[in-house]
Amino acid sequence: MDSVNMLPRQRTFRAWQETFRTIYHRRNLWTSSPSRIAMQVGLELRILSLCVDRGEPMNEQALAGLGARLFALANFLDEDLAFLVATKYHGKCPYCLRLSFCGCPVSDRTKTFADTELAEEIANGWQIDETQLMLARIYGRRNADAGIRSVFDHLNGEFMELIEAIANLDVEAFREEIADVFAWWLGLVTLSNIPSASDLLHAHYPDACSRCGQPVCAITALCPPL
Ligand SMILES: [Zn+2]
Ligand SMILES: [Zn+2]
Repeated sequence: MDSVNMLPRQRTFRAWQETFRTIYHRRNLWTSSPSRIAMQVGLELRILSLCVDRGEPMNEQALAGLGARLFALANFLDEDLAFLVATKYHGKCPYCLRLSFCGCPVSDRTKTFADTELAEEIANGWQIDETQLMLARIYGRRNADAGIRSVFDHLNGEFMELIEAIANLDVEAFREEIADVFAWWLGLVTLSNIPSASDLLHAHYPDACSRCGQPVCAITALCPPL
């Protein structure tokens, strides 16, 4: 088997999901569950929340850990995260359809989703940093004006909706909410002055298990997700 170490730092959204699948999926299947992974997302959010409260820069490890767990969750439930994000965020704000500088209230409004064909076209070969840039083009100015606390609170709110979808075993809600959480995560990454989510992930998850150091995790004991 080729080593995942051969992969470049800059990679597509789907290549990142595949990276996390290769390293962690087998272990997660044995030792985890959607709620356990979501609980880990909650722990990362708590660390970030303290940073916001103290006015400190975002804890980079927690920020990377949050993204990594969203991939773990998508892998666990066999969902294609790039496709789900492309379905909701298809180059435009799904609420006001602006291509850039959205200023609309983003919740409780009519939404326009991409159809399967368009979402696949967007997701195919999508660099994760391009996804980050697209969202920054649409929401960057609004997020910068609103400030980090507001963006963090919104991310937290989306996470609560994701938890609810998991608790209710609501697949459709899960698919939309994980796209939202991921999009707001990318917004927070941008607002934390990290221009490349790919570099952020690579710095903290360099193609080997963060616990045992193997390219495919070899841990068989009970272990937190990732
Ligand atoms: Zn909008
Ligand atoms: Zn391991």
